[in-house]
Amino acid sequence: MIPYGRQDINQADIEAVVEVLRSDFLTQGPVIPSFEKAVADYCGAQHAVAVNSATSALHIACLALGVGKGDVVWTTPITFVASANCALYCGATVDFVDIDPRTYNLSVDRLAEKLAQAEKIGKLPKVVIPVHLCGQSCDMAGIHALSQQYNFKIIEDASHAIGGRYNGEPIGNCRYSDITVFSFHPVKIITTGEGGMALVNDPVLANQMMRLRSHGITRDAAEMTHAPDGLWYYQQIELGYNYRMTGMQAALGLSQMRRLDEFVAKRHVSAQRYNELLADLPVVTPWQHADCYSSFHLYVIRLDLSALRHREVFERLRVNGIGVNLHYIPIYRQPYYARMGFNLIDFPEAERYYTEAISLPIYPALTDEQQLEVVRRLINPIGHQSIF
Ligand SMILES: *Cc1c(COP(=O)(O)O)cnc(C)c1O
Repeated sequence: MIPYGRQDINQADIEAVVEVLRSDFLTQGPVIPSFEKAVADYCGAQHAVAVNSATSALHIACLALGVGKGDVVWTTPITFVASANCALYCGATVDFVDIDPRTYNLSVDRLAEKLAQAEKIGKLPKVVIPVHLCGQSCDMAGIHALSQQYNFKIIEDASHAIGGRYNGEPIGNCRYSDITVFSFHPVKIITTGEGGMALVNDPVLANQMMRLRSHGITRDAAEMTHAPDGLWYYQQIELGYNYRMTGMQAALGLSQMRRLDEFVAKRHVSAQRYNELLADLPVVTPWQHADCYSSFHLYVIRLDLSALRHREVFERLRVNGIGVNLHYIPIYRQPYYARMGFNLIDFPEAERYYTEAISLPIYPALTDEQQLEVVRRLINPIGHQSIF
């Protein structure tokens, strides 16, 4: 099976992890801030908060921005469920904005329309979570302009997008957002096994997220309700979690950071090759905005065929050992969300996407032969006549 995504671990990565295993601190040691600094410096952000997953990072980002009961958070339906679940964890409700038909990211036009309607009924969102699908940035300048007009906060779910750029600057610098979140799950661009990070420029938000990842505890006397009882003293001043990243994870992440640009460059070579190999087929290859340099976490094609054929093509690829995937099932279709009463006709582009999209395998070690094999199986699956 050729998987749709896969980590790339070398000897230096392994040695970095082993070094932590032999050290004094398996967690909460010095490698955590080193990894945080490496990512913050790479992205041009002031602060970084490492946690045990992007899901945790999204949760504490929402909390730090004050999301709670009675609030509304908007995101795109074409994303992993974690982009929406984070709002529910905080007691808020979730709504979705349909996607752009070219980038498959949250549509700024639909966002503007929905905001104008929401203003009339007094149900404006507190936070909007754009997701940089496949690693290509959303139209952040457009979303940011709307945030100024309608007074909402922005969390970029950049789980796919470390190493990508927008308007020539690294995704993660938070120029157009309050907080940016990365995932280091093994299928993503760099990995720590499980892991995530929140990037932020505001020191108050950074401090709050640091507290929230560790039980809501502070050791800073200035934050306490009274002077410390002694050197042992700490205070829990809010309800936090244990969302900490281990030293082994941070060491792996720090080591992977050295190859981040190389990983993304390799993904671009593979994407370009797919573009060429697929040029004459009835498929839509990933459209790239001139302002964006994608990290190409995913290479999504859309089949210009019926929904029935889409399902057939997908199944044949899987049967023939190609680990294709569909990123993503629109969240409002998940039974847990469907109960909240969403209406499919409100999301025509997401619905159409769902009947056409297929993620082809892409990862740094994908070989030319494997790519040819993927395309061959797409054109003419063994034992079947040509599908096109
Ligand atoms: C992977 C992913 C997440 C969750 O990441 P974890 O690190 O596994 O918690 C969230 N949002 C998107 C868009 C993702 O792809």
